[in-house]
Amino acid sequence: MQCWICASPANGTCRFCGRAVCREDAKTHPFVLEVYPSDGNLYGLAVEDALHCGVCKPRPEPVLMDFLAAPKAPKPRKSDK
Ligand SMILES: [Zn+2]
Ligand SMILES: [Zn+2]
Repeated sequence: MQCWICASPANGTCRFCGRAVCREDAKTHPFVLEVYPSDGNLYGLAVEDALHCGVCKPRPEPVLMDFLAAPKAPKPRKSDK
C-alpha cells in the first residue's frame, strides 16, 4: 500500500477514512470510541492521537443521519369488503 499523499510506502491507515499514509504525512486526531452518560454528564472514551491522514475532515460532533430514516408513509390498505 502506498501513501495517499506522496506515494511512498505507507506506514498506516487513517482511522477515519481508511486512506493509507506514510509516517511523514500521518497526522493525529482525537478519536471518540464511545460516549456514555454518568452522573448527568456525558463521558467519552477517546484516543487522543488516532492516526489521521490530514485529508479527510472528521466531524467533532455526530452527524444527523436523517437520510437513513425511512419516510413514514402510511400504506393505504384496500379492503375487498
Ligand atoms: Zn507520504
Ligand atoms: Zn482520513
